Amino acid sequence: MLCYNKPYEVICQAMRAIWVGLGLAGVLLSAAGISQPRSFIIVAIDAGHGGDDTGGIGIDNLIEKDIVLQIAHVIAIESVNSPKIKIVLTRSADQYLAPGERLARARGAQAFLSLHLNFSHDPRVRGIAAFVPTNAPQRTRALADALRAHLISVTKAPDLGTQTAPLWLRRLNIPAVQLSLGFITNPEEARKLAQLAHQKRIAQAILAVLEESF
Ligand SMILES: [Zn+2]
Repeated sequence: MLCYNKPYEVICQAMRAIWVGLGLAGVLLSAAGISQPRSFIIVAIDAGHGGDDTGGIGIDNLIEKDIVLQIAHVIAIESVNSPKIKIVLTRSADQYLAPGERLARARGAQAFLSLHLNFSHDPRVRGIAAFVPTNAPQRTRALADALRAHLISVTKAPDLGTQTAPLWLRRLNIPAVQLSLGFITNPEEARKLAQLAHQKRIAQAILAVLEESF
């Protein structure tokens, strides 16, 4: 885990210490002949955009690249409590990454979730959607549907369905889903998306589905 993003550096360093601690505990348990819990499922969380690529800009100057990075960090932090899911982040700082770099950073993961927000010229438009690559396998669609359904149930956002798009995620040979977590041009959703409590709800919903799906 790289820790080069100032606002999250302390959290990031703490998480790295926890992972090192877990690894060390595992080695000690093995040495003592005590069986370890089953191995982790590694899931890559990809905060969309970054650097000069801001993504959408919404109400109160909320910037997509910043909000999705915050949510990615909250997912990583919440995952420390998960007995099963280990999160890797494709980016932990405000930097531009080409798709190839995002793929490289996800190497070894068993699933890939790309986080995005949506925007519209109509401020009334709101809701959560999942996107899967064209011709995605059934297990990818199932994961997208499960994630979307659970996110809808905890956020009460309108359900915009699972949609198909020619995404670069098709280059991954693991389940890869793009989540659109709300509209930053809708005043109500924008306000929520900036709140840590809402970000935690989203993170916990995603982790709960990942734990059930693998
Ligand atoms: Zn986006």
